[in-house]
Amino acid sequence: MMVLETLSVFPQLFEPYMSTSIMGRARLAGLFSFEAHDLRDWTHDRHRTVDDAPFGGGQGMLMKPEPIFEAVRDIAGRGPCGAHVVFFSPCGSTFTQRHARRLAGKERILFVCGRYEGMDERVYELADEVLSMGDYVLTGGELAALCVMDAVVRLVPGALGDAMSSVDESFEGSLLEYAQYTRPASFEGREAPQVLLSGDHARIAAWRRKSAIARTATWRPDLLDGADLTQEEWALARRAMEAGHEEDEANEQ
Ligand code: SAH
Repeated sequence: MMVLETLSVFPQLFEPYMSTSIMGRARLAGLFSFEAHDLRDWTHDRHRTVDDAPFGGGQGMLMKPEPIFEAVRDIAGRGPCGAHVVFFSPCGSTFTQRHARRLAGKERILFVCGRYEGMDERVYELADEVLSMGDYVLTGGELAALCVMDAVVRLVPGALGDAMSSVDESFEGSLLEYAQYTRPASFEGREAPQVLLSGDHARIAAWRRKSAIARTATWRPDLLDGADLTQEEWALARRAMEAGHEEDEANEQ
């Protein structure tokens, strides 16, 4: 069973999410365990202090190194296998599906979440890796940890129920997912593509492949660099990109 743990000053933030829906079911089914540690449990003063003013001046407070060193050494050293230690910072490597796939192979992961203006730089030597959720600043690392744990748990075999459902998704094979439709076939004059109602699996698969290519070319052309496309498919991608640019220009006017 995969063991997921967090270390933060707001451990109560995790439980509702980690016990709801797919996370909750996978946890009850014993596919992973989860424990949220309170960083203040590794402080030794009456006020359970975890922060201090930055050397050199500047705004706000920083998380001090001692409780973090003590907690990570203590938690990661427990149990039969050491934990893979992940810190969160906007300065980290941008989290992607590739990171999620790699982390899904770990037995035990400890996620260390910052608050305030971040952490004393010396704590990062405890990190096996530092992840960022993207080029924006959150008030704390808890949401980042929840995003990563969610993305990782749904890759654990059995978590999604249907074994196929994490295979042909966005980012698998460098393409975004194809467009999807459900009933009604006609909604206020907007029609679902006829081919999807045809029952012809080969035609449906061909349509989905084209849809994935056109959507990727329109919204995330950067992803196509790594895509394995035929000449015909590259032509489709170029047409979609050009159509996308025309749309952008129209929107700007
Ligand atoms: N002053 C720091 C930001 C601190 S935000 C800076 O400018 O880099 C406080 C905490 O929130 C961080 O320690 C980190 O754990 C978390 N956090 C904020 N933005 C994040 C992001 N984009 N990705 C991952 N964690 C983030």
